[in-house]
Amino acid sequence: MSETLVDRYDALLIDLDGTVYRGSQAVPGAAEAIAAARSKGVGIRYVTNNASRSPQMVADHLVELGFETSVDEVSTSSQAGAAMLAERLPKRSTVLVLGTKALEAEVLKRGLIPTDTADGAVSVLQGLSMDLGWRQLAEAAVAIRGGALWVACNVDATLPTERGLLPGNGSLVAALKTATGQEPLVAGKPATPLLQQAAKDLGANRPLVIGDRLDTDILGAVNAGMDSLLVLTGVSTEQEAQALPDEQKPTYVGADLSVLHRLP
Ligand SMILES: [Mg+2]
Repeated sequence: MSETLVDRYDALLIDLDGTVYRGSQAVPGAAEAIAAARSKGVGIRYVTNNASRSPQMVADHLVELGFETSVDEVSTSSQAGAAMLAERLPKRSTVLVLGTKALEAEVLKRGLIPTDTADGAVSVLQGLSMDLGWRQLAEAAVAIRGGALWVACNVDATLPTERGLLPGNGSLVAALKTATGQEPLVAGKPATPLLQQAAKDLGANRPLVIGDRLDTDILGAVNAGMDSLLVLTGVSTEQEAQALPDEQKPTYVGADLSVLHRLP
């Protein structure tokens, strides 16, 4: 049997929105292409910058859309952000959490103590919450100015919704950058911690990063030294990929995930 694209890899690190689903619709053929890869023994991870939903909520959504998966196959930027703190801080360190209950839960899982004020906070972990206001940003500014370690789950400038592009976590990170003159460490794509953690969890030596965005998924793969597949079911186009300098181009471009099972 001839070698297909997926046979070159031991794991797939797969983006969600624009890659396996669009809004409330699964991308046609995506579930089948991923199931066929899994049946060949290839490790599967759904890797998302979204830090507002818990890994369980992400898995439930995928199952609802017809994907055979479970929470073990989901890696979120909130998990990666909390892991970055746990690597750098002593156990039971106090972390000011700007974000949802799901983000707070990841902090607790890592043996760290979430708080909502600057008092005693040695670190700030920032993910998107739609309830975030000035007072919480002010607490974070005090903590960061006082030397707290600042980690952003992602720096996505916008959040695509039915009403158009709304402010994403990166826009709120920008407010704190302006207020403090500091830069956070970043977990999500195009930074490398989220992708590297997902590959490590799978024990993968040859992971393939799959996504629909050149500026997050593909650039993240380039930064992490991993091969990548741009699928044309979401944001970026083939023309945009061709216009990039060679070292930033995706390894492969495909109409959709079915390209995994063809000859490269
Ligand atoms: Mg995407």
